[in-house]
Amino acid sequence: MAGPRSRTLVVPIFMGAATAFAVASMAPTTPDGHAQSPQTPAPSAECNEQTPLDFLIRGNWTLRPGMSAEERRARRALHDKAIRYRTERYGYFPGFGRPEWNPHPPAHYARTVTFFGLRTRLHERIVPAVRCAEAEIRLRCAAFAYQPRRLSGLRDRNTFRGGEVSNHVYGIALDVDPHLNTCCGCVAPWRDHPLCKRPVTSIFERMVMPECWVRAFQKFGFYWLGDDALQDTMHFEFLGDPDRIVRTP
Ligand SMILES: [Zn+2]
Repeated sequence: MAGPRSRTLVVPIFMGAATAFAVASMAPTTPDGHAQSPQTPAPSAECNEQTPLDFLIRGNWTLRPGMSAEERRARRALHDKAIRYRTERYGYFPGFGRPEWNPHPPAHYARTVTFFGLRTRLHERIVPAVRCAEAEIRLRCAAFAYQPRRLSGLRDRNTFRGGEVSNHVYGIALDVDPHLNTCCGCVAPWRDHPLCKRPVTSIFERMVMPECWVRAFQKFGFYWLGDDALQDTMHFEFLGDPDRIVRTP
């Protein structure tokens, strides 16, 4: 925890295709890492609901045994498209895509943000989407008490293997309580968690974060890797259009 828990005023203006909020705090820190005052009002914002872009979803381009050569080619092309899209919008990570697509590394765009009183670093373009998710959680998930203890955002090292690049290197992925919300399809020690060992009827029994939180993130373009073969329940990644997060007048 860094400093007092911030207060967020959430005022629903209307519901429907878009959900509108007035968000009174949760402002990111300045680029040099100094936290803004919790009293600093953020501008009122209307949060667009959106779904992840298909070609950015991992499960749509990972290769599996038994796939035809044609399907493999199509999936590789989709993966290349996803790498170019992320490089152009979020930064160039060596080994994936080309520096001509973006001269800056993702860290160039990093901002420290506060989420439920915890600080982490994320890409500046997705900060409004995190604000929208927190506002939605505060509005709709009060009945499911949960206070995160640890967050993990931007990383300077790729934690994926096999030619894949983690969305953490682009600063568009956020892990919530990695020690409590399991990743039973990941390598050890993640898959050795006791919650991965017992039979369950729902993935939500392999985590402590409420399902309501997952639904709140999903509303604003985050893909939850609990839905992936990895069963990475701690992990949200913003796969929506960063230009559509907030409605502009
Ligand atoms: Zn993650």
